[in-house]
Parts: sequence; C-alpha cells; structure tokens
Amino acid sequence: MSTSLAGRAETPMQARLLAHLRDDGPLSRVQLADRMNVSRTTIAAEVNRLGELGLAHEVGPAASRGGRRSTMVDLAPGIRFVGISIGATGMSVGVTDGRLAVLATRTRECDIRQGPEAVLATALELARETLEECGVERPMGAGVGVPGPVDFHRGVSVSPPIMPGWDGYPVRDAVSRGLGCPVVLDNDVNVLAIGEQHAGVARAARDFLYVKIGTGIGCGIVVDGELYRGVDGCAGDIGHIRVQDFGPTCACGNTGCLEAFSGGAALARDATEAARAGRSPVLAELLAEKGELTAADIGIAVSRGDAQAVQLIRDSGHRVGQVLASLVSFFNPGLIVIGGRVTGLGHALLAEIRGVTYRRSLPLATGNLPIVLSELGDEGGVIGAARLISSSVYAPLGSGAS
Ligand SMILES: [Zn+2]
Repeated sequence: MSTSLAGRAETPMQARLLAHLRDDGPLSRVQLADRMNVSRTTIAAEVNRLGELGLAHEVGPAASRGGRRSTMVDLAPGIRFVGISIGATGMSVGVTDGRLAVLATRTRECDIRQGPEAVLATALELARETLEECGVERPMGAGVGVPGPVDFHRGVSVSPPIMPGWDGYPVRDAVSRGLGCPVVLDNDVNVLAIGEQHAGVARAARDFLYVKIGTGIGCGIVVDGELYRGVDGCAGDIGHIRVQDFGPTCACGNTGCLEAFSGGAALARDATEAARAGRSPVLAELLAEKGELTAADIGIAVSRGDAQAVQLIRDSGHRVGQVLASLVSFFNPGLIVIGGRVTGLGHALLAEIRGVTYRRSLPLATGNLPIVLSELGDEGGVIGAARLISSSVYAPLGSGAS
C-alpha cells in the first residue's frame, strides 16, 4: 500500500486529473483522456508521475468496451484528510480518504467563546482520536471551518462577532503545528456549502446558495461550481443585513440585523421571553425543567402543539425569507439549501421561508428554484473541510487553493 506523503500535484493537468478521480473515480485511462481532451499516452505519463508522488495508481484492467482494454486509475489508497468543522456550540471532526468518504468522525459540544486555545485543543484531541482509529500517523492535510469571517490567505479569523478572543488568531498555523500537515482555514458556511456540493443535495448544482441558520446566520455562495468568497472573504455574511431599522442589538453591535431576529440565539431569547411572560405554558414548563432554553426547545414545544412556538418559527422564517427574496433577485440561483442546527425545527420553518421567498421574488427567478433542507447534518462540515484541503493538496504547488 502506498503511504508516501511526498505528494502534491506538480502541474495543472495532474491537479485536474486528481479532481476527476476525487469526484468520480475510479476512472479508466480512456475516460480520463476523454474528459480532459488529451491523449492516452499523456494520461499514462501523468498517472505514472502521480504514482511516484504517492497520489494515484493503476488498479487493473477496465471492463472491456471492445478492442484493447483500458486501465483503471484510482487515488492512492493511503491518502487521508482531516476535516474539522467548528460551530458556535459544537464541533465535528473526521478523517476521510482521498475521495472524501468519511472513515471516522467525532462530534462534541463546545462553546466557541472559550477562546481559540481551549477550542482548538479539543479539535486536535478529536482529530488525533479519529486518526488513531483509522491507523493514520500523519494525514496529508486538514481543512478547518470556524463560525466567523476568515482571512482565507493568512489563515486567521478576523473580528468574528460571536467568537471573542479569536480576532487575528493564527488558527491555520496552530492546527498545522498540531497535526504536522498543511491546513486550510475557511468559515463554516463556506465549508458546509462545498460539503453539500460534494456529497449532498447540491451535487448537480453549478450556482447555488447554502444558508446556514445556527447560532448565527450566514450564506455560502457557489458560482459556476466554484465557491465565491469576495475580495476580503466575507461574501455571504447575510446575518448582518438589516431587516428593520430598530430592533434587538446584534452580536456585531448594530441593531436590526437578520441574525438578531432569526438566529438560534435570538430564537432562544424570544422563547425565554415568551415563557417568562406566560405566553407559552409548554415553553414555561421546559424553562423550569432545564433552567435555560435553546432553539431546539422551540421544536419540542411545536411538537406538543404550542401555538406561541409555532409563531416564533413563523416570524423567524418570515425574516429569513425576506432576505432570501432579495438574494434571489440579485443572484438568480438554481438551488437554495437551508442547513444548520435550527433546521431541526424542520418543515414549519422551511414552509415559511419558501412561502415568503416565492411570494416576493420574480416568477422567472423562482420558476425553477428548489429550496430544500440539507440532508448531510454534521458530516457535511467534515466533508466540506476535507474537500477544501484536498483542493489545495491536489493543486500544483505555488498555485492558490480554492
Ligand atoms: Zn449584526
């Protein structure tokens, strides 16, 4: 088995070859030659070189299509990536193979406000556990997602509103030191969007939005198959779009932000208020039982037929829908995926978001616009983070990762 860690692609053609194998492999040399529009001889030479780099290898004859049999090519079996997806209240860490199939995962509750040292120590501990479970000494690379704005090129988080103590912290370098491999850092929503693109409901979509409604709210933007980050990496920061001139104060310091109305933290706040004001017997009971309420408790109250909880979800979905309607007019996506923990509130929320988005957008833009819930759950972040680093490892040295 090839476990050489030499590997990074040396040329753009090798990088494309590896991406084809990652997304659709194994493929025959003939298929690769067709897809890349080069000769089989060229493919054979590149595959040879990738073999020496420990990145790809030949795995035997392809099924006969008449005439001379082609040879099947696959990624090297020893390639392992780590995906670390850190949210505001919990994290998922996993190990994947070269095609990003998840081999082992761990999830753990963890408050991002504990600061980078404590949170990253937990992430590294989980990563080492999963690596050990998979018998991996050193992974080929690791991808990391954090719930706030990231300077993608420097690998640091920048003024993250819900992450006190993380501003300017060298997350990428810290994880790289901890695992002894190259690391790429991005924000959690971008990571979830590319996870969805690789293995979820967005697999066939070229232009789509991934809207995460967790403690905060953000949006991953995929344009023509590629993640769009914007000039400074904060494209899609829709949680801080103002939906009302006066409103609750947001974690960012402004008032009236979408997130301050519809994020998980806002929902927990409103549920607590409803419970204390005697507007919801079910929420009051849950509050007395638990001492504090989360967005998930609203889901419990809905399942017990609580009218106030249903109203909270409607109001939240309504405001998200208003913002999405504007985004649809601006961007004309082919798909909107809704993800994040608040999607545990499920179909009541989705129905409201759909209703408002469809009502407020032009018919031409919504005629063919599915709005669906993500089905990947926690694994989406692990796959997305692994895909992020795979693109960097599979890209030729010196080129920017994407
Ligand atoms: Zn804000």
